[in-house]
Parts: sequence; C-alpha cells; structure tokens
Amino acid sequence: MNFAANDYLGFSHHPEVIRAATESIEADGFGSGASRLVSGDAPVLHELEEGLAAFKGYEAALLVGSGMLANIGLLDALADRHTHLFCDRLNHASLVDGARLSRATTHRYGHLDAMGLEALLQRHGGSRNVLVSDGVFSMDGDCADVAALLGLADAHEALLVIDDAHGLGVLGESGGGLTQETGLQGHARLIEVGTFGKALGGYGAFILGTNEMIAELRQRLRTMIYSTALPACAAAATLAALKVLQQGDRVRALQMNIRSFVEQAEAMGLNLMPSRTAIQPLVVGEDEAALAASQALRDEGFFVPAIRPPTVPEGTARLRITLSAMHEEAQIESLLAALGREVA
Ligand SMILES: *Cc1c(COP(=O)(O)O)cnc(C)c1O
Repeated sequence: MNFAANDYLGFSHHPEVIRAATESIEADGFGSGASRLVSGDAPVLHELEEGLAAFKGYEAALLVGSGMLANIGLLDALADRHTHLFCDRLNHASLVDGARLSRATTHRYGHLDAMGLEALLQRHGGSRNVLVSDGVFSMDGDCADVAALLGLADAHEALLVIDDAHGLGVLGESGGGLTQETGLQGHARLIEVGTFGKALGGYGAFILGTNEMIAELRQRLRTMIYSTALPACAAAATLAALKVLQQGDRVRALQMNIRSFVEQAEAMGLNLMPSRTAIQPLVVGEDEAALAASQALRDEGFFVPAIRPPTVPEGTARLRITLSAMHEEAQIESLLAALGREVA
C-alpha cells in the first residue's frame, strides 16, 4: 500500500487520462520536437492554459516543463540584483535555487512568521520587493497565511509568489487549492505556481497571473524559452485530469480520507504535525528511529518513506505519510494500527 506518492487523486491511472494521452500520441506522436517559441506550440497547450486560468480564477496561465523549471525561471525573470526577495525559511528547493540564480538580495524569515517578515520588510525593503512562499509546505503539510502575506505585499508594494504545488486538488471547496480556500485567487499582486506532478497525476507545471504578467513571462522565462515544449500528450492528459477533478467526487473523497486519518491518529495520541492537507508527517526524531520505523512498516506492506536532514531540520526526522482519494477506509485503519505498533 502506497502512502508515499503525491498522486493524491489517483489520476496517474485514471482511464480518461490514459485515453486522452493515448489518443493524442496516436494522432500527433509523442514528442513536441522543439521549444514553444520554435515549432513546439501545439494548440492543446493553449487550451490547457485557458482551462487552468478559468478553474484557478486568474486572467492567464503559462505552461512550463516542470515545477522546478517554473520556479527557477520565474524568480530569475522577476528579480535582478536591485530586487529584494523575502522567502520563508522552509521554501521548496526550486524557490531557493531560483532566488540564487536571480542574484537578488535574499532575506529569509522564520517559517510562517508574518511578524518577522514585516520587520524584515521595514528594515530592508528596497524599491522592488517580492515575497515568496510555498502555499502548502511539502515536508510539513502546513499552509502559508496567504491573506497576511498579501496584506504585507500591498503595504510594501511587493509582488507575492505562492507555490501551491501541494494545494491543488486537495484544498478549497472544488479542489482549487489554498488560494481558492482563502478567496484571494486572481489578486493583481499574486503570481501562483502549480505543478501537474502532484494531484493532477502527470508531469509539467504552470504559472498564473494577470494578462500583463503572463505576457511578459512568455517573453522572458528562460526555462520555458530554451527548453523543449511539454509534449501535447502530456497536456491532453492533464486537461482530461482537470475535467475529472472539477467533477468533485475525488476531491471530496480525499478530503474525507484526510479528516478520517487525522481524527483517528489524534485519538490514538500519535505525534502528528498539525496538517489539514494530504501530507501528514509523523515526527520520530532521530534518523535511525525514522529509518527503522519506515523499514518495519515496509515489512508489513506499507510504503511510508522516512524523511531526514538535510531535507528537514536536525532532530525532526519523520515519516511522511501522504493520503490519496484512492485509499479505502480499511487501508487507512490498517496503516494506523501499524503506526500504533511501530511508532509508539
Ligand atoms: C514538487 C514541488 C515542486 C517541483 O515540481 P515538479 O513539477 O515536480 O518539478 C515545486 N514546488 C513545490 C512546493 C513542490 O512540492
């Protein structure tokens, strides 16, 4: 039983998704042949961009090869050595690398510490400021306070970049993610990044923003311009996944599984980190203990990876449990029973 994947809605194996990919390959072949700016710009890429922008509540969207490429290219395009970037200490590696490549002055604030961020902005805010945060944090499963960040962005005339790779398909009434949950999607200062590699079950990524911002990124995002376009079959499959997502039942099933897991784990007194997302980390502490627990679970038939430093801070080695809409209640109960035995 796989409690390790980010394929939260089971779309990597959904028949509609597989059919869309297969039909696209049979009609147009597999690879895209070149960058979008040369000859790789298939119509389905635009159709997917329009579908994503409409679903997520933004004016426009831009596809990129992967989330890693999206974040590296985005921060490089938005910032230069005259820019100040303000980054949550636990941001994903792709945002850390993008900040480095941009040559901006980077300030890191304590995880989710809006007051610390405000103090940094007052002390260091230059004429061009960009706030940068994961939406759902990938190793902790907790969430940025988007409203607080957007308030600070307004006060300091900054842009706000939210990477909600793990929120899409998980949070929000129709699975639109953290910004949908908070009702702030589409705000003029907000640029949102998402990936197809998590709940959409595929590969590829996207950036959302105003028409003006996306038009500019289309001309300037080096990781899109100088890289082979996403294959049409990947876009066709993702478009199919997006349609199934919008039907809502898989999102509701996932949200029920999350609630059920958390309620039962709390009743058992397991040392879960506070999370209402599909990422449910269980802190074990020492590296060896986390590895041993992961191995014991594996021997019982559960795939639950141990995540250790330097991916997470020293002394917080953990089991990173991820839930899926495809898990049955009985599977969740048997995992909880095994956790009770192995992580006491
Ligand atoms: C997975 C992830 C990425 C990278 O996305 P890929 O499409 O897998 O390259 C970026 N940011 C966050 C927060 C992620 O969890």
